[in-house]
Amino acid sequence: MLYNMPTKLYYGKNIISQHKNEMICGEKALIVTGKNSAKITGALDEVISVLNEFKIPYVHYDGIGENPTYDMILKGRDIGLKNECDFVIAIGGGSPMDAGKAIAVLTANPDLIPDDLFDNNNYDVSLPIVAVPTTAGTGSEVTEYAVLTKPNGRKTGFKSNLIFPDVSFLDPIYMLKMNKNLTLTTAVDALSHAVEGLLSKKSTPISNILARESIELIYRYLPKTLEDLENIEYREKLAIASTLAGMVIAQTGTILPHSLGYRITIHKGIRHGQATAIFLPIIAKEVKKENPKKVETLEKIFGTLENFEIFLKEIGTYNFNIVFTEEELELFSEEVMNSSHIKNTPGNYDKNKIKEMYKKIAKI
Ligand code: NAP
Ligand code: FE
Repeated sequence: MLYNMPTKLYYGKNIISQHKNEMICGEKALIVTGKNSAKITGALDEVISVLNEFKIPYVHYDGIGENPTYDMILKGRDIGLKNECDFVIAIGGGSPMDAGKAIAVLTANPDLIPDDLFDNNNYDVSLPIVAVPTTAGTGSEVTEYAVLTKPNGRKTGFKSNLIFPDVSFLDPIYMLKMNKNLTLTTAVDALSHAVEGLLSKKSTPISNILARESIELIYRYLPKTLEDLENIEYREKLAIASTLAGMVIAQTGTILPHSLGYRITIHKGIRHGQATAIFLPIIAKEVKKENPKKVETLEKIFGTLENFEIFLKEIGTYNFNIVFTEEELELFSEEVMNSSHIKNTPGNYDKNKIKEMYKKIAKI
């Protein structure tokens, strides 16, 4: 069995200032961010002050929006090439971190187009990547994945050992400014990673231990954080839970809830974590039918799978209203059945069963 997580992870309060030199992975930096959060969290200023101190020139590209598209990453690549940047510093949630990873590979391989990223035989180099997360959810700071939205609107991840960040700086101080809704939806993304890792056919003894710890931290500290958003100790627990869950999926990948959720994010505008977590109890029950041992950890933590669902309800995971047309159900179930996630999900699935899962979510 393999445990693979080559990223050097620095974590804790004010962590960048304690390990400044580790951020310098080249001679000219391309900083990749979204519009606001890198600034309002203070993370961008800290990164820039380190670069200034070491006299490292940089270019700042702030064009990454939620669910990054090909256009966004191609603009980043063009800026990187034009300015001859030789390393990437991605600051923000999963969207800028994933976009930064894509930009790092495309800048190191200027002949590639974004579609080529999905077959990692197409490249064997990337620019070094530094990640500075400002949300506690995706775990992208410790994963070999990046999720992009294709021109046809399909959210799809690519995977390569080259996009494990070289160094990540996880500082819970950056997470204090997240509002209640963003805190919830990002934390339940981390919860989804940990739970899916446990249920996955690819779960390992080590990933299971990390997953259990991550779920326990979220169970204990997410409700408290939602009532006390600026509590740094709680934020630190959720940051660690999220990174642990990232380490889990770095071994196991994600399973059906992620595939089911991608359609809801793109077509119904519900954020990634929430769109995913709403399917966890349904899939856990399916997995239990095939392999009851797989859900024992969840049952130990929550009591029963029903209690797990109640926990998700009580923190607000199901607070939305969506309806699906028959055409949407047809399209989504077709796409989910063709997704790579299905083969690692224990249980038996067909298009009708997938449609029923979407219908159940619309009713809750
Ligand atoms: P996000 O899409 O990166 O950001 C969502 C929103 O939150 C943006 O408006 C962002 O603002 C704002 N924001 C970020 N940090 C903030 C802070 N500290 N305070 C206030 N606002 C803040 O959200 P995310 O949930 O972290 O990432 C989701 C993406 O990651 C999805 O595309 C998902 O598919 C992907 N993902 C990747 C992995 C992986 O392993 N690579 C795993 C799971 C999910 P700005 O735009 O101004 O930055
Ligand atoms: Fe996720």
